[in-house]
Amino acid sequence: MSDSQSLPLPPGSTIGMLGGGQLGRMAALAAASLGYKVHVYSPEVDGPASQVTSLNTVAAYDDWQALEKFAAAIDAVTYEFENVPAATAEFLVKRIPVRPGPNVLRICQNRLREKDFCNSIAVPTTRYAEATNADSLARVTRDFGLPCILKTAEFGYDGKGQVFISYGDDIETAWNAMSGGKETAAAIVEGFVDFRMEISVIIARNGDGSSECYVPVENHHKNHILDQTHAPARITAELADRAEVIARRLAEEMDLQGLLAIEMFVTSDDHILVNEMAPRPHNSGHWTMDACITSQFEQFMRAVAGLSLGSPDRHSNAVMKNLIGDDVDAWQSILTEPGAKLHLYGKAEARPGRKMGHVNRLSPKI
Ligand code: AMP
Repeated sequence: MSDSQSLPLPPGSTIGMLGGGQLGRMAALAAASLGYKVHVYSPEVDGPASQVTSLNTVAAYDDWQALEKFAAAIDAVTYEFENVPAATAEFLVKRIPVRPGPNVLRICQNRLREKDFCNSIAVPTTRYAEATNADSLARVTRDFGLPCILKTAEFGYDGKGQVFISYGDDIETAWNAMSGGKETAAAIVEGFVDFRMEISVIIARNGDGSSECYVPVENHHKNHILDQTHAPARITAELADRAEVIARRLAEEMDLQGLLAIEMFVTSDDHILVNEMAPRPHNSGHWTMDACITSQFEQFMRAVAGLSLGSPDRHSNAVMKNLIGDDVDAWQSILTEPGAKLHLYGKAEARPGRKMGHVNRLSPKI
């Protein structure tokens, strides 16, 4: 459906949200303060997002009847995770504006397409190649040399579906570990990057082509899950500028209408390589909720609704710490800390590895 007919969405409109996790929850709260309603569509009952809105559809992503009713009840639709099935996005785009568009989803859903896209517009990535079985994996690793990282091309997150392959490792074992024992699968082999820092940049872009970028931040992982984000990243202004130029180029070339998070590696010789992109709010942008004039969630909702974008300027520096599993038990002591802002996601059970909330610790801007 043509986007121009419905832009900007006036306050009181309803934004559809595919996915019911914490990103949808925080986006719905931001949307509410702009006067919008959010209708959450998710197979999950009582998820973090549905707790904060009265408009909910609990149904599968291929329940066409439920999707038809959902489309009729909303003015535009977005998503809080990029693994929305392509057929669902195609179904919805025939009925209402989908932002970011299905072309952006297509690129970001698949690591091979993502890296092909980057390279087609001269945005550097690590060396990579496709592998579809153990034989092709063996060929690529011979060609690249070790170490390498083998990843599923689709549906991987937080290090899931990833295998580090080092000298002397058995290729067949590595293949089976990634594919869960399947003989053939869609996978990518990446050259191992000996990075000195992981950074990310979040950019918002509107239908009229204007964009706003948050300062690059520095990310630290534990057990493949984001543990802390330092904002801003402790890098030179020149490197920060280069990271921003990359983000703007990617957003423009994919004609983004929404939010895009780009994870990048900074190498020891100060090259920047794009690792991964997500067309939605990102865990590494949670610090913006308390340290910036416009949070990533408000910016996301503004971009989806076709409003003018807000200032991404930060008034404080911040360290965001994820509360994973039992970490959340510290909620009472966090509440007593000066300069700390606690955000909990309303999840009942604190399982290991589960993101339960986060805390933003603020300090004066330097
Ligand atoms: P990803 O799911 O691609 O974000 O990867 C999860 C984490 O694994 C990254 O944040 C990095 O710490 C590490 N990693 C992924 N790809 C590479 C690579 N090509 N070289 C070195 N480390 C990597």
